[in-house]
Amino acid sequence: QLSKRLHTVATFVPKGSTVADIGSDHAYLPCFLIHCQVATRAIAGEIVEGPYQSARRQVIEDGLDHLIEVRKGNGLAVIDTGEVEVVTIAGMGGPLIAQILEEGKDKLNGVKRLILQPNVSAISIRDWLIANGWSLIQEAILQEDGKIYEVLVAEQSEHPVSLTYSERLLGPYLIQEKSSVFQLKWQQEYKQWDRIKHQIDQAGKTVGVDEKKKELHNKMKIVQEVLQWEK
Ligand code: SAM
Repeated sequence: QLSKRLHTVATFVPKGSTVADIGSDHAYLPCFLIHCQVATRAIAGEIVEGPYQSARRQVIEDGLDHLIEVRKGNGLAVIDTGEVEVVTIAGMGGPLIAQILEEGKDKLNGVKRLILQPNVSAISIRDWLIANGWSLIQEAILQEDGKIYEVLVAEQSEHPVSLTYSERLLGPYLIQEKSSVFQLKWQQEYKQWDRIKHQIDQAGKTVGVDEKKKELHNKMKIVQEVLQWEK
């Protein structure tokens, strides 16, 4: 049974695609994509020996080793340019996903679609996409086991759409949709920022604090405006 989180990632893979899942761990996502006949061929990339072996075992157990290749290596280094149409990277922090994309940029030439699921800091990914000629085409937000996850879908475009700071922070599509999970996520973030602000105040003034407080204040104002809270 695939998690709701990975299932949501899978819904954005076009039928008939070749897919590379980077940081695949147990290779659950590529196995699911092949089982459901969404992907025609897949690569599962893993950097760590333990998860790499888990992925290999899972693929063999599912009888899919003729369609899924498990490769050990860092990020996009495991794929050749033009080898896959879709790259998925799920279950890591946004900055790590952005770093994997940055380090493997040259491998993305033939890739049509990126499906990225950061556990935190989706803004790092949105910033990377804008700076590197990719446009967000869809986003999703979901809750599973008390955690909230975002999924970002991007395609290469000659005219990448630029985003405002609020859109980069909260997501241009998610802002429009304002789902209940989205509202819950930003209420939680807001409370967290408020706590940090109070901690800063209690700790007394130290270097760099004004900048940090300004940034927190700015983000809190954005959330208030987007969620249309009464002050
Ligand atoms: N993608 C799966 C999911 O969403 O359930 C697994 C997520 S797991 C938390 C993250 C995996 O990414 C780990 O197995 C880790 O070893 C792998 N990983 C981290 N950095 C990586 C990198 N630079 N290249 C390939 N794999 C990486």
